[in-house]
This record gives sequence, C-alpha cells and structure tokens, in this order.
Amino acid sequence: MSEKEAARTGVPTAEDLALIGKYTRRELLPEEVYTFPVVLCDNEIDREGERFSVPALEKLAVLFVGKTGIFDHEARGKNQTARLYRCRVVREEGRRTAAGEVYHALRADAYMLRGPGTQELIREIDGGIKKEVSVGCAVAAARCSICGADRRKSPCGHQPGERYDGKVCHIILEDPTDAYEWSFVAVPAQPGAGVVKGLGASPLSVLEKALAGGKGLTLTPMEAARLAGWAGELRQAAEEGRLLREKALREAVRMGRLSLPELPRELLEKTLGRLALPELERWTQVFRRGASGRLPIPQTAPAAEPEGPGENDSFVV
Ligand SMILES: [Zn+2]
Repeated sequence: MSEKEAARTGVPTAEDLALIGKYTRRELLPEEVYTFPVVLCDNEIDREGERFSVPALEKLAVLFVGKTGIFDHEARGKNQTARLYRCRVVREEGRRTAAGEVYHALRADAYMLRGPGTQELIREIDGGIKKEVSVGCAVAAARCSICGADRRKSPCGHQPGERYDGKVCHIILEDPTDAYEWSFVAVPAQPGAGVVKGLGASPLSVLEKALAGGKGLTLTPMEAARLAGWAGELRQAAEEGRLLREKALREAVRMGRLSLPELPRELLEKTLGRLALPELERWTQVFRRGASGRLPIPQTAPAAEPEGPGENDSFVV
C-alpha cells in the first residue's frame, strides 16, 4: 500500500503493525488501528527566522520515533494520543528553501487506536481538518547563518530577518539532544519547533529547561494556554504578597508609634518601608514588647538585618 493509500484509509500494513507492535502489550488487529502521516518539521526558515539543519532533521528522525503526540482538544477525553512509529527525512529534489538548500522534511507515521473516543477525531483527520503539527525538542546549538556564532553562547548582534551583504540572517538549529512531544492542532501552530513539554507538573521547571537547553521558546497552543494560566496565578500571588506586605507595614508603624511615640510617623514609615516582610514582622514583635513595657526598646532604628526568631537579645541596648 502506498503512503497515499495508507493516509486515506488509515489501515496499517503488516509492516506497520510490526513496528506498532513494539509499543503495544498485545498484537493488534489491523481494524483496531488507525494510521496517518504527519510532517513534523523541515529545513525551511520559519516565521521566527529559524530552521533546522538537514543533519538535525536526521537526528530528530531517530529521536522522535516512539514519541506520543497530543491533540489540541482537552475536553474530549484522555485516549486521544497518537504515537509515532516511523520517521524519515524526505528530500524533495527541485524544491529549494529560502536559504537555498534542497528542501527536506521530517515525515512520520503515527497510529492511534480506533474506538468511540477517537472516532470523531479520525473523521476529522481523514477530512483533512487536522493537519498542523508542532514539535518540541532541544538542540545543542543555534547558529547564526551569517557568522556561525552559537547565539546562546556568544550573541553576535546579527538580527534574524535582516539582510547582510544580500544574505538574510537566520538561525540554524543544530545537534538536537532530545525530542519531547509533538502536538496535532487544528489551528496552524507557529512554525518552528519549541522546547516545552509536560507543563502539568511544574511550569517553572519546564520554562527553565526550555530557556536553558532548547531553541528559543516556541509553544504549542495548549502549552501557551497553560503557561498563560500560570502567569495569571503568579500575578495573583504577587498581588496578594503586596497586600500582605502593606498590611504588615501598617501594623509595624502602628506598633512603632505606640512603642516609640517620640519618633515621627514619617520616619517610621520611611525606615520600615525598606524592610522585607519577615523583617517587618520582627520589628512589629519588638515594638509590641516595647509598647507593653516588658522589654527594653531599641534606641535607634538599626540597619535592617533579617533575624531569625529567638534572637531578641540582639536588639536589646
Ligand atoms: Zn552572527
């Protein structure tokens, strides 16, 4: 069966089933499996001014085999994953990239299980509705096409998209070190691979990993949505922290006024206003004791030094 026929019918050949069998616990029948082809990425310059080198595509072809893909439909249930069981780089003679290379694409075959949960999805794939794929991977080098500098180690100042001596600068992604997930989306994703994977557990660790080890930072729509949600949570937490600090400052000033009535409010506010929250709380304690006359009171405002609990004596004059 040719690739075209397989794409149309989605029925695996014996060879397909043998490859798929590496990932299943039992041998599947042809009618249980749906297969479809995807183009994962290519060596064309993307909208971000980046492209993979052909050797990078070759390495990705190895790294991506066996990797699962997700569909950008979270509401529909959990069985909607597909797995890549075959990847290869296909050279298209006669087609040139913007950089003047022969066009190469990383093509893959994916399978998913047929069933009530995937019926509609399969129908959409067959109908050509879902055809955009975005990939996540990490690369060891991101080279400037003009001067060859690895942009993450030594920024060279050349701007992707700008012309230098007639040549358009772009970034060449080389030496992939890892391939994460791929996702299949209805809306065209930003071309260009990203490096983000599994934002469920810790968005921060994923973000750090992405910034440290991958090519730039391009997200699938789902990942972008998750990160945006996380940013919202951070913003809220920051706002709560700010309110908490304001409240602590007000209380510290109030206790300071009771403890040291001779100090002008402005001075207290100015001095205490520089302190971090734990320091403010310490001073509030000290002032409270001072106000109740149980402890000697510091004569001057000391330089702000965070103190652990139980070190009250250091404040005693
Ligand atoms: Zn450069």
